[in-house]
Amino acid sequence: MSKRWSKGLVLASLLVAVGLSGCYEPEPRPRIIGQDRPVAMPARQTAPQSRMLGRSVQGRPIVAQILGNGSDTTLILATIHGDEAAGTPLVRKLADHLAANPQVLEGRRVVLVPSANPDGAAAGTRENIRGVDLNRNFQTANRVDNATNGLRPLSEPETQALQRAIQEFRPDRIISVHQPLDCIDYDGPGRELAAYLARFCRLPVKKLGARPGSLGSYSGEHLGIPTVTLELPAGATGLDEARLWSLYGPAMTAAITYSLPASK
Ligand SMILES: [Zn+2]
Repeated sequence: MSKRWSKGLVLASLLVAVGLSGCYEPEPRPRIIGQDRPVAMPARQTAPQSRMLGRSVQGRPIVAQILGNGSDTTLILATIHGDEAAGTPLVRKLADHLAANPQVLEGRRVVLVPSANPDGAAAGTRENIRGVDLNRNFQTANRVDNATNGLRPLSEPETQALQRAIQEFRPDRIISVHQPLDCIDYDGPGRELAAYLARFCRLPVKKLGARPGSLGSYSGEHLGIPTVTLELPAGATGLDEARLWSLYGPAMTAAITYSLPASK
């Protein structure tokens, strides 16, 4: 065989081998030490999932961010009254904090709704765009039907979205951020949680009484979920995010770790 033929044969064999190699299982990848060891999955915990709960009257999305995949669930929502704006950046900052501190999420799930009344927030009004106070629109024993509360319970898509979220996520506790009453109110079995949160901020606990058709009347009184209303002062609007977080961030994280505070 000439040298030329010999070279051609080697080349052809190589080509066949390369062609055939596609038919076989590839070489197993080198094992990474510790790869198969069961480990906590902070990446999974920290990657927030977004869920659209529904849309406002004007079509704005009402979005929940879900962090963590544990069983102990805290639902935190803000700005169900559209002109109580400070809760929205506070809850967004909380999402950033949890993503950066995934150990807080171990065994827990946190559902955040930074803007529960996006039309009202855009318009700067307490009510939604149809003039209904969403925090009077829930189906409760004490509700009163009228134009401001809604002519029937759950008449508003925003309220429906929040009720669906409560039914789906079945939170162990609920925090709703409001202004401007400068206190911590509670509904249902929320007294201990309210007192606990008061240790982490300067807001005093005050029992204001369940309002007709309010979220607290529904989730706290009717469903028996500890429900706390964090009433920030009027001056909280306009505070920069860092100041807002330094004043109220510790109480927000305390709400999440409330159930197992000793181990965290
Ligand atoms: Zn309010």
